[in-house]
Amino acid sequence: MRIADLEFEPFLDQSEIESAIERVAKEVADDYLNKTPLFVGVLNGSFRFVSEFIKHYPQSCEVSFVKLSSYQGLSSTGIVETLLDVSESVEGRDIVVLEDIIDSGRTLQELIHLFSAQNISSFAIATLFFKPSKYKKEYQINYKAIDLPDEFVVGYGLDYKEKGRELNDLYILKNS
Ligand code: 5GP
Ligand code: MG
Repeated sequence: MRIADLEFEPFLDQSEIESAIERVAKEVADDYLNKTPLFVGVLNGSFRFVSEFIKHYPQSCEVSFVKLSSYQGLSSTGIVETLLDVSESVEGRDIVVLEDIIDSGRTLQELIHLFSAQNISSFAIATLFFKPSKYKKEYQINYKAIDLPDEFVVGYGLDYKEKGRELNDLYILKNS
């Protein structure tokens, strides 16, 4: 499949992605019994993950979003900027960040920085996709749905040049 100037091939289908999300939602629920966590989705890529996660989250919770940016095209620029902040008061809250994908971990570091300045009760991170061979930071990711090889992927909310977010399955860059 062609997206902009690149060729991609199918990698994971929607049902595999969604059963992994359901598993993670239940793991989180077990850890937050009798709590009302504030789930913070990281836009734009996590919108689908958040929606599916919430479908399977059986307990009291709240949902909000932040927007950061670090990627242009295929590789991280390393510049992470907060474009849109969490509007709710996060003081005293149990925050669980929902990320679409963790690659180098720079975006995650910025999120940790963002929340460490506030008086929150607890912080955890759940990511839909994780690239273990790329991640170089010390922070231990609390919840991971699916590990990926070190290749660029699109679909299920993730884009290439803003295209492909609408794809139900996940596609991986084709090595020519
Ligand atoms: P990091 O800051 O961990 O290097 O990169 C995280 C962000 O880069 C993700 O939130 C996502 O927006 C983008 N990203 C990293 N890897 C990929 C990938 O394989 N495909 C797409 N579409 N975006 C990615
Ligand atoms: Mg992102």
